[in-house]
Parts: sequence; structure tokens; C-alpha cells
Amino acid sequence: MSKQEQSFSLTIDGLPVTAGSGMTVLQAARQAGISIPTLCHHPQLSPFGGCRLCIVQIEGVPRPVTACTTPVSGGMVVTTDSSEISALRRTVLELILSDHPNDCMVCEAAGACDLQDLAYQFGLRDNPYPGERRLYEKRDANPFIERDMEKCIACGRCVKACDEIQGVGAINFTYRGFKTKICPPFERDLDCEFCGQCVQFCPTGALVGKQWDRAGRTLGVRPVKTVCGYCGVGCEVNIHVAGNRIVKVTVPDDAWNDGLLCVKGRFGYSFVQHHDRLTVPLVRRNGELAPASWDEALAVIANKLKQIRSAAGPDAIGGISSARCTNEENYAFQKFMRAIIGTNNVDHCARLCHAPTVAGLASIFGSGSMTNSIDEISGSEVLLLVGTNTKETHPVVANRMIEAKRRGAKIILIDPRRIPMARFADIHLRLRPGTNVALLKALAHVIVEEDLIDKEFIAEQTTGVESYLASLKAYAPEAVAGITGVPAEHIRAAARAYGSSRKAGIYYAMGITQHQSGTDNVRALAYLALLTGNIGRPHTGINPLRGQNNVQGACDAGCLPNVLPGYQKVGIPDNVEKFEQSWKTRLSAAPGMTMTEMIPAAASGVLKALYIMGENPVLTDPNASHTLLALKNLEFLVVQDIFLTETAELAHVVLPTACCYEKDGTFTNTERKVQRVRKAVEPPGKARDDLSILLDLTTAMGSKLGFTTPSEALQEFAALWEAMSGISYQRLEKGGLHWPCLDESHPGIKVRHAKGFRKGHAVFTPVEYRPAAEQVDPDFPFLLTTGRNLFHHHGGSMTRRVHPIELHAGRPYIEMNPEDAELMGIHTGDILRITSRRGSITVGALINRSVTPSVVFLPMHYREAAANILTSDSCDPVTKTPEFKVCAVKISTAETRAPKAEKLS
Ligand code: SF4
Repeated sequence: MSKQEQSFSLTIDGLPVTAGSGMTVLQAARQAGISIPTLCHHPQLSPFGGCRLCIVQIEGVPRPVTACTTPVSGGMVVTTDSSEISALRRTVLELILSDHPNDCMVCEAAGACDLQDLAYQFGLRDNPYPGERRLYEKRDANPFIERDMEKCIACGRCVKACDEIQGVGAINFTYRGFKTKICPPFERDLDCEFCGQCVQFCPTGALVGKQWDRAGRTLGVRPVKTVCGYCGVGCEVNIHVAGNRIVKVTVPDDAWNDGLLCVKGRFGYSFVQHHDRLTVPLVRRNGELAPASWDEALAVIANKLKQIRSAAGPDAIGGISSARCTNEENYAFQKFMRAIIGTNNVDHCARLCHAPTVAGLASIFGSGSMTNSIDEISGSEVLLLVGTNTKETHPVVANRMIEAKRRGAKIILIDPRRIPMARFADIHLRLRPGTNVALLKALAHVIVEEDLIDKEFIAEQTTGVESYLASLKAYAPEAVAGITGVPAEHIRAAARAYGSSRKAGIYYAMGITQHQSGTDNVRALAYLALLTGNIGRPHTGINPLRGQNNVQGACDAGCLPNVLPGYQKVGIPDNVEKFEQSWKTRLSAAPGMTMTEMIPAAASGVLKALYIMGENPVLTDPNASHTLLALKNLEFLVVQDIFLTETAELAHVVLPTACCYEKDGTFTNTERKVQRVRKAVEPPGKARDDLSILLDLTTAMGSKLGFTTPSEALQEFAALWEAMSGISYQRLEKGGLHWPCLDESHPGIKVRHAKGFRKGHAVFTPVEYRPAAEQVDPDFPFLLTTGRNLFHHHGGSMTRRVHPIELHAGRPYIEMNPEDAELMGIHTGDILRITSRRGSITVGALINRSVTPSVVFLPMHYREAAANILTSDSCDPVTKTPEFKVCAVKISTAETRAPKAEKLS
């Protein structure tokens, strides 16, 4: 029997208890339902034994010991409560409280303070130890977290959370004895990722979210359990509501994300109540958008869409739905376009990010989504991270990766930039942007050469391997080093590390997909998993990290021009017939236009009307000048959004909608988990949720969508797609469910392909390296790559209206290597003019080694330095996904800074 499998019998408070080796007395007691008070202990953190409240007596041990640091052993007899123990705990508490302010009445943590709870439990009223108290000047320059050091009990939970979970180590104990204080090095102001894990783990009111809106206490505040509205990780949150205002975000006790959030999820909620919110419908009259009633706005839309449909046909109308909207709203949107308008011209922002995932993985496995679950990450031996800036774009997934690292996993990072995950990487391959296929095939070359392949798996579960293996010959690391800039020995080391493990998981994001070779990149990556048999088992797989909160769900719901809900192909007679019968209407069998085809079609006049629900293509599509011209050329543009975005400013009708915390429904996160979204607050003014708008618009067009509530919409969707057939609102009340979930008692499948592939075999098809569409030349000597940062989300329409985030990260910047900067005489803060073949912006320089020489990085969030004025609209030929990650630019110093929020239109 291994050490881990050993178990011990012991007695706790007279009860026989069995505990595994490595467990502490505290864990064993809690497992047996015996409560022991603690303040410094937290189950997600390593034991500390600092507060001494968990002291217990162990037979044969002369003095009480801390239960949280004492390992169990066989035959141990433990007493967790006695008059002696109780008196000691009381004294410990009195000593802590003797140095604690008496302002419980106005403390933001009142009602949720562990110290207050214990004081109440022990009936403490007086301070028997009056004397010196620590007094600190209250001072904190950061806009997110308020530290009240007088309330700090030095339990160290914040220090451990910051170090062990977040991997940042921004704070630590300083000084000794009575002067002990937790603070950043040299007592500087806090400057960190502002994830707020320290706030969540603080047992008192020493760390609270900065009170821009002082009302975060539990009294009079109701928590509403829902899902974060930002990224595809889909963290569960409690939205704390006072009246109709959100005052705080925390994590429910039973949430799968274990108390963890990132800065956006925890502190990025004030956009909901921002004064810029749209509150009434707007209709363009005499060239100006003017307030209108809902009846009038919907009548204008219905009449105009009918008129265009009868004059130019249904395919003259396009629809772009939203990865920020619910599954039900997306299902309703595509049904509206297909069944009411009569076209398959429906798409959404997956086109701009993970369409190559859907196409690439589906062509190999028969379906395109994450093969494994987030929970499995921490148990992997090797994590291969490719083109994912996980710590900034999917921070809570990064927490699991850091946990895996702490447990001994190797992290291999493939990314041109020295991104924050590089701190945790054992091997970092800094390839030239756009050379992924060459590098991934070089890894495969080494895996084959060193016989690290899983022959049995390949023989039983795949086809086409011979031609694929033959295609690898030209990709020896030594040959590929010249293309990628990655030394051959580093490629070999990475290939050995990945190929030698049976628990190796691949994680990737838009650094892989946003290339003209996006689909090939996805395939080249997936073949590594097939070659080594690292798929179909826990802790392995190929796992795309989806960007927006519900981009997985919008794809699932059929907001793609070539597939009906559940990836059922348009044009296959059986599929069309199935949906025609359900929806009781004739459907078009011709695949529609992608979003990136709709824009040129609008420019050329082929597309006459566009209905956009919750997207802002002016800022988020490539080649913004062209997008602007195209949208201005439309006969009719409808935009449904929460703010008057750059795109909404061009619309003929603007409809004000509810945001993610103002409606009911479901989101599907990146790991295929469907979760309940619950309404926490009412939308402002006359804004309404997108589903009810679509229902009323359908009525105005003289038809019906066939459901009236989110739950009915999901029911209809689930009835049409086997993978969702076991999912219902009733079941989701108990927690999220992964699809495939095949019937009402099915638990949902976390590890896909465990029983083989849907198509029978996974298919190898050779892919070849093709250089990016734009290369540097003497006129445009820098490669520009774009992406996201930690603090903002996508086009920034939400995060840029969050005051603390804007205070901290409100300035656009371009990252440049010091060598380039020195050659050009550029310093951090200098204003640069960046010019591509499509346009020009001005932006401040940030000189650092995050980028290699000749490469510059520009975040996509800032309208006043819009990255997509520069980016190229060269597309992946399979999915028409633009190559956001590579374009050639030139750089000069600008005379003056661009005006803030320069108007794109
Ligand atoms: Fe929200 Fe994503 Fe941050 Fe979780 S990781 S809190 S889902 S933005």
C-alpha cells in the first residue's frame, strides 16, 4: 500500500474516526463533522498555526497543540473541547481583540467577520487587556482595495492567498513582535494584479473592496448567485444588491471557483450603473438619433426588414449575435434570422476568435470544444500553453495552472511575448509571431524521432497518420529554428517534456486562432495530443480557452452561418427537415455569410441591412476604416446594446438592453459547463433583456418564436440537440452541468472522447507552414501583435466604464523592446505614431522586455488608440477569421498625443 493510500483510525471527542495519511487533526475532525474554531486556517492554503485558536489536547502530549498543523497518526486520542481548551481559546481571542478597533457597527465586514462571530460565540464583551494598540495612518493609493491595518490580526491568510494561489507575493509579514505588519515590500502602496483574493480570504474587515459606494455590509444587502459576465472561465459570483444597486461581488461558498475571481469579476461591476447606459430606444430622424417608444422602434425595424426582404430577398439581411448574451437569447436570435427573416446570415464574435477551433477540432474529432475540464488542470503533469496569456485573459484558469505547478507539474509556454505565465514556465519558446505551424510540427518531429508516440492509441483510434508522419520530415528543429527564432535544443526539450507524459494537457487561445493559418494551427496542436495519446483521459486533452463569457454557448446555440443549433450542418436534408418540423417553417439550405464576409458585402451593397445584438464591430473587427465605410453604406442598421457604442452611433435604430446582471438565462463556459444566470438588479429606464426584445420584434413582424421565457427557449434548444437533452433549469438550480448531458439523470461528461471519437477515428491530415500575410520590410519594419490585458475586456465598453479600473489602467500603450527603443531614442511615455498599410494611431510607449526586438504589442481595448485601425483583414481561408496577431507597422515619434477618445467615425 502506498503512503497516500494509508489510513489511520483515531478517536476524536470519543468518536472513532478514519483519516488518510497526510491529513491533519483539523481536517480529520471537520471530516467527521466536529467543529474546531480557526482564524488563520483556510482549506485552500497551507497550514500556518498562527492564531492558536484550533488548539486541541492529544492523549500523551503534555501541552495542547494546533490541530491545523498536527498530522494524524494511528491510535491518536484527541479532545477538541474541554474547559481548559475553551479557556485558552477565550484568552487567545481576548488578546486578539485587545488590539482591535471597536467599530463593528460601521465595519464593512460586519456580519461576515470570523472574529466577530467567534467573539459572539465566546460571549466576549470587555477587554481585560487594555494597553497599547497599534495605530496606523489609513492610506492606500490603489483604487481597488482598502487596507485597515488596525483590523489586521496577522493571520497571514492574505499573504498565503497572494503567494500560493495567485503566485504574486505582493505582500508579506514585515517587522517583528508587536510591530508585525502585513504590507508590500518597503511599505510601498499596493501594486499588484488586484484580484482581491486577499479580500476574499481576509477573516476580518482589514481588507475590503474600496468603497466607492459605501454599502457592502451584509445588513440590508441581498446576495444573488449568478455567473461573471466577462470571460469564458465563467466564475460563479454573488452579486450583493442594496435596493437596486450592486455594491459588492464575492464568491458563493459552494462555487466551483473556490473563492477565486480576477480584478474584472470582483471589482468590475460599476459599469452596470454607469450614467452612459442606454435607457430608451433611439430612432434616427433627420440624421439624428432621437428617443422613441418601444412600439415605434420595433415597428420601424419590422417594417424596414420586411421591406428589404421583399425587395432584395432574405439574404440581403444579416445578423450578428453576441457572445455576451445568454444561450436563450442567442438561440432566439438565430431562430429569428433563420425562421423569421429566412437567411443563414447569422454569426457572432467567435468568427474573430475561436471559429478555427470549431472548424479545426471538428475536422479531427467530430466536435470542436474543450475536451477536458478546468478542475483537471491542477492534476496534470505537464501543461503545454500555446498562444494563451492565461494569467491576464483567463486568470482563474491560471490559478489552477499555478496550483498544478506547485504540485510539481512542468509548464511549457509557447508565446512570442514574455507574458505573466512566463514566471511559472519551465520552458518558454518565444517564437516569431505567425510561425506556430512550423514550431508545432517541429515538436511533433522530435516526438516521433525519439519514439515518444503512443503506437497503440494511434493504431486503434486514428487514421491518416502515414501522410502526416511523412509531412514532418521537413520540420527538424534545426531547420525550424531559422523560421521561428526558437533554438533547436529548446524545441527538443519541450517536445521531450510533453511527449514523455501521460498526463499532459494542451491549453491555447487566440495566439493560435487569430492567424490566417488559424485552423491549421489548431490542427497542428491537436495532432500532438493524438501522437502521444494525451486525449480521452483525465488531465490531458486539447483545450481552447474561449474569450467572452458565452462564446461557447453562442456557438452551441447555432449563431454560426454554416450550422444550426448543436453544430448540425446547414444544407444536410435531415437536419433541415428536423428544424423545419420543430420550427414549423421552411428554412434556407444555403450556408450564410460569416461576419467577416458581411462587412465587405455591406460595403459592396450586397448586404442591405444588418441587425447587431451586443457587438461593436467598429472597434473589434480588423481594418476599422473599412468596417466604418461598410456600416455607413448599409440601408438599415439596428444595434441592440447596453451603451451607445461606436457601432451604435451609426445605427438607424438603437435598442437599450439589459446587461448580464439584469436578466435570467444560462451561459456555457469554456469547459462546456452550462450555468444559471440570475437577475440581480433591474435594467435602467426602459432597457429590456434581449430575449423579450426579440420576442416582441417577432410579434411586430406578424410571427411567433414559439417560446416566451428563457426556460422554454432552453427546453426547445435542448430538445433539438442530443448533447443538451439532459439539461434543464430545474437541474441547473443545483449547479452547472457539462454537455454532453444525454438525459435527465446523466451527470454530464467532463472528459470527452474517453470512449473513442464521434467519427469513429480521429483524422490526421498534413498541415504545412505558411508565412503570415504581412511580413516586415524596409517601409514597415515592425511586426505588430495585438491582444488583451488583465484589466480590460474586449472592446472595453464595460471595463472602461468601471471607475477604479479606468483609474488604474485607463491609458493605452504600446510595448516595445529596449533595444529598438534605444536605437530610435524612445523612452517610456513618449508618444508614438504607429502606421500600418491601413491606418495610423498615436499611443504612449511602454518600454519593456515583454516583446522581442522588431515586435511591438498593442492592447485592443482603447478606442483612442484603436488597434484595429492598424490590423489586417487577411483571413484564415477556412473560417474567415482575421489575422489580428500579425501585421507590419512603422513607428515614429508623434508631435502630439491624440485627443482622448478620438472619434472613430
Ligand atoms: Fe470573471 Fe473570467 Fe475573471 Fe472569472 S476569470 S472573474 S469569469 S473575468
